[in-house]
Amino acid sequence: MEKKLFNFVTLSFVTLLLMFTACRKQETPFQYNVDKFYDLEILRYDVPEFDALTLQQKQLVYCLSEAALWGRDILFDQNGRYNLRIRRACEALYLNYPYDTDNEEFAAFERYLKRVWFSNGIHHHYSEDKFLPEFSQKWFETACADAGVQYDAAILPVMFDPAVMPKRTTAQNGVDLVANSAGNYYGEGMTQKEAEAWYDAHKDNSPEPLWIGLNSQLVKNAEGKVEERVYKVGGLYGEALEKVVYWLREALRYAENDQQREVINKLIAFNETGDLQLFNEYCIAWVKDLDSRVDFVNGFTETYSDPLGITGTWESMVNFKDLVATKRAQLISDNAQWFEDNSPTAKKFKKEEVKGVSAKVITAAILAGDCYPATPIGINLPNANWIRKTYGSKSVTIDNLMHAYNEAAKGNGFNEEFMIDDEIREIYSKYGALCGDLHTDLHECVGHGSGKLMPGVTKDALKEHASTIEEARADLFGLYYLADPKLVELGLLPNEEAYKAGYYQQLMNGLMTQLVRIEPGKDIEEAHMRDRQLIAKWVYDHADGELEIIERDGKHYLQINDYEGVRRLFGELLAEIQRITSEGDYAAAKNMVETYAVKVGPALHKEILERYAELHLAPYKGFVNPVYKVTRDKQGAITDVKLDFTEGYIDQHLRYSRDYSPLPDVN
Ligand code: ZN
Repeated sequence: MEKKLFNFVTLSFVTLLLMFTACRKQETPFQYNVDKFYDLEILRYDVPEFDALTLQQKQLVYCLSEAALWGRDILFDQNGRYNLRIRRACEALYLNYPYDTDNEEFAAFERYLKRVWFSNGIHHHYSEDKFLPEFSQKWFETACADAGVQYDAAILPVMFDPAVMPKRTTAQNGVDLVANSAGNYYGEGMTQKEAEAWYDAHKDNSPEPLWIGLNSQLVKNAEGKVEERVYKVGGLYGEALEKVVYWLREALRYAENDQQREVINKLIAFNETGDLQLFNEYCIAWVKDLDSRVDFVNGFTETYSDPLGITGTWESMVNFKDLVATKRAQLISDNAQWFEDNSPTAKKFKKEEVKGVSAKVITAAILAGDCYPATPIGINLPNANWIRKTYGSKSVTIDNLMHAYNEAAKGNGFNEEFMIDDEIREIYSKYGALCGDLHTDLHECVGHGSGKLMPGVTKDALKEHASTIEEARADLFGLYYLADPKLVELGLLPNEEAYKAGYYQQLMNGLMTQLVRIEPGKDIEEAHMRDRQLIAKWVYDHADGELEIIERDGKHYLQINDYEGVRRLFGELLAEIQRITSEGDYAAAKNMVETYAVKVGPALHKEILERYAELHLAPYKGFVNPVYKVTRDKQGAITDVKLDFTEGYIDQHLRYSRDYSPLPDVN
């Protein structure tokens, strides 16, 4: 899922299905499920270990969380120039509706407003199509009049006419991308040609270039000339950036070290001046800050929403290092040589000296802007290639959000529908999440780095099948070792049964349940999906009673009879996949992929789709944030920070709109 320079791993329907249910011990039950409407589900995430941070770290997280929340209006306006007016009119009506709310039109209106909040505007956050109200324009106008709500009449066609601003960002071939996108990265009347001409004229071709256009809107002035309106204090979105800067300054007082202080200082200076040289310096300082426990992103970052892919969309995420999970990944990485030496691959394909990769795992503490309510599950920044090359980048996974998805999926009926019996469901609910984490760690920290190529064999020898084979190799490495007593010995798994949860899930997914993402009649295209089916189908085909698919009342289920036997088969396949990779055996790779990874059995596929549809699961998820509660002394200094996890979806958005809404209607 990598797009261009920067890759916030997006979580959609697709990724969610990989996670399913799992279990984490909670003393008091934590409410993960918050709300559900249309194709959206709202979840809550826990922030474990927040209480264990030092007071200074808590103060820092708090100030950065305020800096995050103050940017919310920016995203609404970037997503469309009428969005703030529409949101405000709807919120005013919602709060002042003078009649009984127990009727279908008001319910439809409430759903619409919830959707506007979710999308930070009037276009679906994922498809980017405009969604239409299910209440009439007449109802809206009358209700507003009765409630005394004033609004700009220009919002009516924008809300109700399907032909007006139908798409947020269009990627359609042959049309003017700027003129046909509702996003507000370009002023009214701007064309793609004019925007491109401006960018061409201002492009920086130096070796350490400025990202011209990252922080600005292009508009036509009174004389019809293209002009840049820069996002900065005193410029476009200045009212919001002023607040962001205020809280970054507060955060400075609690910074953990000089490097982090430099990061914050550079970001303040950039927001104040809009000077892109300062942005580069900020990115470099940020990449170098590896020691701080607390870290954050705050600013104009992703460029997918600009139809020309240049201007950054505002977002923020504050986080801190998850020490337990980071240690777990480190432990696996430290044992990389042992894993290499003991793998079932042929000796000549092993590396004499292998180094593990260490991964950083973080806990999100606040999500804002384009990270809220829908959010990525990983961060890989900065975007500028030359900075990545010279100074490196930071890549992290966000554990507490993954846990929330897992927890929220409990009881959604998925495992009840697709797992064969209570015994496996119980093992899965105990160890599924842990196995998932460990499998990912083994895959990333040691799997990809294991093995070597024979002299003369190049990385691209397997051509179009290279990524499927490579992902299968890393997955198999992880699966083989998931069942190894070494993991129990290292304290990573509690007993020698736990791995069964991971084995069952992996095979059920590869043979059956991942098919819910494939449309009827289509082949499997995506490399990770191919890799999973390849492994599962190969093992199924080579099994001699170790596993079977049985039918019960017209439904099919996976049954594993001999887990150790399955592990042996994983080992055999790993040895063969390693051989194919090491020797660059293209013909064998092609045959392997074509035989096991691509085709879908239509009857089973149809059955799985029908069973899945019956569950009525929402394909897209988003979150509510915790509420930060601070205690201050008489001088106003923060003496304690506590998190509250009880706020609902509607209350949170109404509060944000009331307390963090500095921008005017028209910017
Ligand atoms: Zn991989």
